Amino acid sequence: MTNNPRTSEDDELDEMDIEASRLAASSRDEQVEMYASFPVQPVKLTADDSFSFSCHKGVSCWNRCCQGADITLTPNCILRLSKHLGIRPTEFLLTYTLPDLHPKADLPVAKLKMGDDGRGACAFSTPDGCSVYESRPATCRYYPLGMVSMKMKDMEGKEDFFFLVKEDHCQGHCESKTQNVGQFRTEQGVEEFDRVNRGWIDILMKMASWKVMGGPGGKAPTAQLKKMFFMATTDVDSFRRFVLGTKFLESYDVAPEAVELIKTSDDALLQLAFDWMKNVLFNEPTILLKEQVLQQAIAKARTDLGAS
Ligand code: SF4
Ligand code: SF4
Repeated sequence: MTNNPRTSEDDELDEMDIEASRLAASSRDEQVEMYASFPVQPVKLTADDSFSFSCHKGVSCWNRCCQGADITLTPNCILRLSKHLGIRPTEFLLTYTLPDLHPKADLPVAKLKMGDDGRGACAFSTPDGCSVYESRPATCRYYPLGMVSMKMKDMEGKEDFFFLVKEDHCQGHCESKTQNVGQFRTEQGVEEFDRVNRGWIDILMKMASWKVMGGPGGKAPTAQLKKMFFMATTDVDSFRRFVLGTKFLESYDVAPEAVELIKTSDDALLQLAFDWMKNVLFNEPTILLKEQVLQQAIAKARTDLGAS
């Protein structure tokens, strides 16, 4: 152990460890809706199911869905959009987003800020369409589909399935082009988003399933823990400073090659953020405390309980 002066982040890290030791994992059914808005058609679609839809500049409702849209940004959306705009995620968050709570998971997320021009137009909406089209958010790619990710008690893996969102103003449903869900997902490039965001989706699912019990192990995450979740899953710059500039790496067992990777790779850092949050929120063994730190935590817990 070094004699580095303690920082507020170190105190936060200690709180995280204590929090983690209190929470237990569960085998409850888990389900969360992603990229969904209403009205949703009450039909469960799989990758092979077909639907008619096409969106192009010739539709009478062109750009209508880019006004007043409710768009939760996934961690990968923030990385992709920041890169597209040539700015870092910290600046992107300040300029283009607003914080909000995910309604099912009760965890903080970033939403795309809509304009205050009276129409609530998205900052990236132009008469020709989306100015960040190649890097548009997952929700915009998915539309008019909604995704539900689900894990039942007896299931090994998770199941993703889909719903069609039919809003009155959207004329795309009247177009003759037919495709199945799998083809649409490939065309829209959503697979990469789902792959990178999987850990984040898993966390939202678990939190949603615990909500009825008040939170993991019956206890709601503290405001401090929610703040850390928001930082780790939206702002890779702040999370990198946190990991490299506090006692994080003295506390957790992170392989030297992984430490080198997270110094430069935002993607690798995101995966570390998901692993850390799964450990802190649900006590999953996705990242391990170093032996010495673990022994100290056990000794402290025994002292706190009055054990000899
Ligand atoms: S990011 Fe692009 S597609 Fe999404 S709401 Fe804004 S303008 Fe529309
Ligand atoms: S409302 Fe539907 S058809 Fe019209 S621009 Fe949006 S997605 Fe395309």
